[in-house]
Amino acid sequence: MLLGALRQQVVDVGLRALAVGVVHGTAGNMSLRDRETGLVAISPSGMPYPSVTAADVVVVDVDGIIRDGHRKPSSEMPLHTMIMKAHDRVGAIVHTHSHYSTVVSTIRDELPPILTEVTQVIGPRVPVTRYGISGTPDFGASVLEALDDEGMAVLLRNHGLIAFGKDFDEALMVAGIVEEAAKVYVHALAANGGREPRLVPANLIPGLRARFVATYGQGTA
Ligand SMILES: [Zn+2]
Repeated sequence: MLLGALRQQVVDVGLRALAVGVVHGTAGNMSLRDRETGLVAISPSGMPYPSVTAADVVVVDVDGIIRDGHRKPSSEMPLHTMIMKAHDRVGAIVHTHSHYSTVVSTIRDELPPILTEVTQVIGPRVPVTRYGISGTPDFGASVLEALDDEGMAVLLRNHGLIAFGKDFDEALMVAGIVEEAAKVYVHALAANGGREPRLVPANLIPGLRARFVATYGQGTA
């Protein structure tokens, strides 16, 4: 089996996403890039996460041509391959239909800086796409239009969330943080009579992010 370890990571991240509640049923899909071959392992179409094995995961290239696997790849494969092709920095993609991210995608053009954690890890805002036709290259194009060279997440209008990372750990963390921020934002709007809540001061965001990048974690020394 081609890229067995990579395919197993796609199985594992599906179970992790299910456990933390960012996906349910068969919704959502994930992909991971192999840096040596440039090929991408992507979840199969319409299979419940607990039933997926490494052999069910499909290996494709960045043009969407199947290289190995007996299953049909995710119906949203063009979304994954178009982003992998356009942004070499992206190693892993987690796409979910997370509830609060989807709510925000219907009422705003961006998720504003509502939580300190989002500004530190992701940046000042998470953009929302125009409406894209799911399962077609138009969907991928709608994300590429909204995604800049540093973006780590995009909200998909009337659909959900897509998060990026160098690996699945990072992409899953980003998906969780964006969903939490979207939840706080929706509740804050409701608690504030629909008026915009207080946001993280824009002038402080570059410093917050730089300090986080420089100091967070245990370091590698
Ligand atoms: Zn979707």
